[in-house]
Amino acid sequence: MPGYYMWTIGCQMNHAESERLGSRLEKLGYRAVASSEEADIIVLNSCVVRQSAENRVVHKLRALEPLKKAKPETLLAVTGCLVNSRQDALRRRFPHVDHFFPPGACPPWLDAGPGALPEHPAVSAFVTIIQGCNNFCSYCIVPYRRGRERSRPPDEIVSEARELLGRGAREIVLLGQNVDSYGHDLPGGPDLAYLLEELNGLDGLLRLRFLTNHPKDMSPRLVAAVARLDKVCEHLTLPVQSGDDDILRAMQRGYTVDQYRRLVNSIRAAVPGVALSTDIIVGFPGESRQQFQKTYDLLSGLKFATVHVAAYSPRQGTLAARELEDNVPPGEKKERLRQIEQLQREIATAANAGLMGSELEVLVEDRVKDKWRGRTRSDKLVFFRDRHDRRGQLVKVRIEKTSPWSLQGELVT
Ligand code: SAH
Ligand code: SF4
Repeated sequence: MPGYYMWTIGCQMNHAESERLGSRLEKLGYRAVASSEEADIIVLNSCVVRQSAENRVVHKLRALEPLKKAKPETLLAVTGCLVNSRQDALRRRFPHVDHFFPPGACPPWLDAGPGALPEHPAVSAFVTIIQGCNNFCSYCIVPYRRGRERSRPPDEIVSEARELLGRGAREIVLLGQNVDSYGHDLPGGPDLAYLLEELNGLDGLLRLRFLTNHPKDMSPRLVAAVARLDKVCEHLTLPVQSGDDDILRAMQRGYTVDQYRRLVNSIRAAVPGVALSTDIIVGFPGESRQQFQKTYDLLSGLKFATVHVAAYSPRQGTLAARELEDNVPPGEKKERLRQIEQLQREIATAANAGLMGSELEVLVEDRVKDKWRGRTRSDKLVFFRDRHDRRGQLVKVRIEKTSPWSLQGELVT
């Protein structure tokens, strides 16, 4: 049986798309192999959201040159956000690549007919609901690579979710660069709250999540749906990016710190115990020490469950790269990044220590060495031991050990 090797970095959208591409390849008679040397088809799913990610992709591509020379019959394909509209330039730069195709696309040679769903989906399965992004935050390359927003019709999403649940999935995670603008381009303008309502009652569904939200687009209707619907988890991603109004304006985020704070307060009032996660960029062009301090203070006041922090990286073609000087020195960016990480470590350590001795409901996803691994509704990772197969089950775990990033405990019978 011929083999395929899939290499994926980047966001959940990339991982979801790789999973679907893998299913297509399996339908065409290929099986997954563990290394590029054993493969007949190699697919790289790339990310270029920061220079560091782009470097990894280029490094991987260069590393495949000798293999392609020795085994020219191996097919090498590249998708993800490296692939821009000028594919001839990419072809000149990487002549050993056979095919480039844009993120989310399915090239004809991979088309195995309808139904790219995995035969054996993960317990927590991704479903993309909206492609692309219309926001054009000044630093971000995503809209240039993933194009404008395109929502999938609700009935298509519901039947895909039903299919995945029938095949063993128990949690559905709805994906999009900005899920809050779901549906505006569809007849009748269904929104995300409507979609959650439609999905909430599906047979076999235990949990429902969605990401990523945009603070300027998150509606009270959506917050009310999260509060009301029993399968929707108390876990929301809400990237703030900066705690300073002038930086937010230069980022073209479309909200102020005060508006963001009020949104968080209203979510916390409506959804008690909600876990919020956020994204931060440090060292945006012109960010002063004082402006950075405002970000730091916002995070230390709001106490997020999770913070993803990145140093600003100019991306060619974006407004920020064209018009703003990348003038925070690399050492200073690193130091700001370290401070945010340190702060968040302290916040997460204290929050998790507070869970010592409590009994938490965990949806078991998989096994890592001798332990089962699952997550709480609030997205905390929990490990426990048990000799029975608990995959896909909801169990109660009494927490006996905590760290900033995960919890360990014992199954409560
Ligand atoms: N649609 C999501 C995710 C976008 S990319 C959102 O709006 O949040 C994921 C994260 O990468 C962003 O939240 C941002 O924090 C970071 N990011 C994007 N472009 C970046 C850049 N040029 N430099 C540094 N971080 C960046
Ligand atoms: Fe990028 Fe902003 Fe769109 Fe997120 S909302 S993908 S950060 S342009």
